Amino acid sequence: MFTENRKEIDPQPSAQETPAFSGPAAARPEDNLALLGSATIMMVDDEPITMEVIQTFLEDAGYERFRLIEDSRLAFDEILELRPDILLLDLMMPNIGGFEILEKIRAHPQIGYLPVIILTSSCEAETKLQALDKGATDFLAKPVDPSELALRVRNTLAAKAYQDQLAYYDPLTNLPNRRLFLDRLQWSMRQADRQGSHLAVLHITLSQFKRVYETFGPEVSEQLIKLVANRIQDCVRSSDLVGYNSAGEKDSNVLFRIGGSEFSVLCTQLQQTESSAKAAARILDAMQSIFDIGGTEVQMPPSIGIAGYPGDADDIESLTQKAVIAAAQASEKGGAGFEFFSGEMNIKSLQRIHMEADLRHAIANNELLLYYQPKVSVKSNAVVGVEALIRWRKPNGQMVFPDQFIPLAEESGLIIPVGEWVLKTACAQLAAWQAQGIWISIAVNLSAKQFYAGTMIDTVSRIIDESGIDPSYLTLELTESLLMDDTSLAVGTLRGLTELKSKISMDDFGTGYSSLSYLKSFPLNELKIDRSFMTGLNASRQDQALVSAIVYLAHEFGLSVVAEGVEDPSQLAFLSGIGCDQYQGYLFSKPVPVAEIAPMLASQGIQRRV
Ligand code: C2E
Ligand code: CA
Ligand code: CA
Repeated sequence: MFTENRKEIDPQPSAQETPAFSGPAAARPEDNLALLGSATIMMVDDEPITMEVIQTFLEDAGYERFRLIEDSRLAFDEILELRPDILLLDLMMPNIGGFEILEKIRAHPQIGYLPVIILTSSCEAETKLQALDKGATDFLAKPVDPSELALRVRNTLAAKAYQDQLAYYDPLTNLPNRRLFLDRLQWSMRQADRQGSHLAVLHITLSQFKRVYETFGPEVSEQLIKLVANRIQDCVRSSDLVGYNSAGEKDSNVLFRIGGSEFSVLCTQLQQTESSAKAAARILDAMQSIFDIGGTEVQMPPSIGIAGYPGDADDIESLTQKAVIAAAQASEKGGAGFEFFSGEMNIKSLQRIHMEADLRHAIANNELLLYYQPKVSVKSNAVVGVEALIRWRKPNGQMVFPDQFIPLAEESGLIIPVGEWVLKTACAQLAAWQAQGIWISIAVNLSAKQFYAGTMIDTVSRIIDESGIDPSYLTLELTESLLMDDTSLAVGTLRGLTELKSKISMDDFGTGYSSLSYLKSFPLNELKIDRSFMTGLNASRQDQALVSAIVYLAHEFGLSVVAEGVEDPSQLAFLSGIGCDQYQGYLFSKPVPVAEIAPMLASQGIQRRV
C-alpha cells in the first residue's frame, strides 16, 4: 500500500526546475532551435509530388536540408551514405516496400537508431502495430497536415538527440535508454497532473545476470539481454495496461533499458497506481520460461520494484530512486517477484539519506576517528604493526561501525574524502610513532572506489611526503575482489603504489575468486587470510588443509601471511604449526583507540629499528 506522507519522504524537494517539454519525445526548447535547419531530412516515396509538398511545409518550418528518393531500391545505400537525421518513409512502394527498408535499417549496427516516421494513408491499427513491431518511430497520415508534420519531425529529431545519436537509444536492444526514460517520465508526470491520472515506474533487475556474465562472458550476455528485452517488449506491447499516449494510441516508448541488466517500464494513465501490479505480474509470467543462449538454458527471474506518482514522490529523481529501492527489496526476498515502495522502505531510505548528509559533515566536525588493532608476530607474540579501522562517533555519542557507512560512502563518492582523511590521520600517527622511535607498521584499508579513482597514486604520494614518514612502514590493504575487478588496471596501479615504497596487502583472501594464480601477477607483500577460515580451523580438516595450503603457497610467492579473526589459543597453535607469520584478532586485542596501543607496545618492549 501507499503512504500519503509525501512531504516527509521526498528527499530533495524542488531539486531541479522542470524544463518545458514539447511532447512525448521531449527535448528542451533550446535544443529544438539547434535542430532546425541543420538536420538532414530524407524522404522515400514513389510519389514525387507528396515529397515536394512535405518539403515545402518543412522549409516553412525552418528546415533546409533534404534528400528525396523516388526509387526505393536506392534508398538503403543512400541512407548509409548520407546518414540522414530522420527518414520519412512511405509504406506502399513498388519494388521494395517501406517495411523491408525499415527492417534493414533496424538490423544495421550503424544506422539502427535512425528515427523513421512512417507515411501511411492507411489508418488501420494493424498496419501501425506492424510498423511499431518493426521499429517505426512515429506515424504521419497522408495527406499530411503541415503543423502535425512539423511537430512530429521536431519531436522525433529531439528524441534522437541530434548532437549525439546514441544519446537516447541503447544500441544493443534498440530500446530507449535512461535519458529518454527520464524525459518521458517528466512528460508523463505532467500529463498525469493534467488528467488527474496515476502513473507507475516498474524497475526491473535481473539478479542472476551477473552469474551468466561471469560464466559465459560478454557476448553471450549481450545476446541474453536482447532476448530479455524482446520478451519484456512483447509482453508490454500486448498488455492493455501500459503504453497508451494521450490520443489513446499505443506508445512505442514504454520499455527502457536503464543500465546493463536493468529495465524500466512506464505505466501511464492508470486509475490507481496499484493497477500496475498486473503489468508486473505479466512480466514475471512472461519471464518464467527458459532462455536459450547458444544451446544453454538459463532462467532469469526478475525483481520488479514499483513506485507510483502521485503518492510516492514528487519528482522524477526520487520516483525512479524509489522504484530502484523497491526492486532491491524484491530481490532480497529472492526469486522472481515484485514489491511496491512502501512506508517502511520510505523510512529506511530516509535514514540513509540523512546518514549521507551527516557523513558529509563528519570530517569537518571531527566525528571520524581511527581505532587500531594490533598485528602480532605468531613466533614472538610481539606487536609488529597495527591496522587502522575507521569509526564514526555521532554528536549524540553513538558509535557507527564501518560496515554501516563505508558502503554508503562508496556509493555516494564520499569515500574519496573519507579515505583521504583515514590515510592522512594514519600517516600522522605513524609519523608521531616514528618520531618517538617506535617502528611498527600501520595498515590502511582502501576501497575499490578510491583505488580506481585515478588519483590514488598522487594522493598517497602527497600524503607520504606531507607526513614525512618512512613509507616502508605503511601498508595498503586491498580486498581480493577489488583487485579482480579489473586486473590489468589493478596491476598498473599496484606498481605505482609499490614505487612509492609502501607495502601492499591482499585483504580478505579466500572470500572471492581465490585465484592463486593471480598472486604471481600482482606485486604484493602480504596476504591476509579471511577470518571466515578461522572459525572452521578447530573442527574442519578441510579448512585446516586450505589454510595450510594458502600459507605454503603465499610463502612460495614470497608473501608474508596474516591470519585475521583469531579468537582462541587453539587457532593460534595451529597457525604456529604451519608457519603463519602474523595474526590479528580478539585473542590478542580488539581494535582500540590510539591511547590504548601505547601500553601494549610498552609491555612488549618497543620495536626499535636496527
Ligand atoms: P577488515 O579490513 O577485514 O577488518 C577487520 C574487521 O574484523 C574489523 O571490523 C575488526 O574489528 C574485525 N575483527 C578483528 N578481529 C576480530 C575477531 O577476532 N573476530 C571477529 N569476529 N572480528 C574481528 P571493523 O572495524 O568493523 O571493520 C569492518 C570492515 O570495514 C573492515 O574489514 C574493512 O573492510 C572496512 N573498513 C574499516 N576501516 C576502513 C577504512 O578506513 N577504509 C575503508 N575503505 N574500509 C574500512
Ligand atoms: Ca583490512
Ligand atoms: Ca580483512
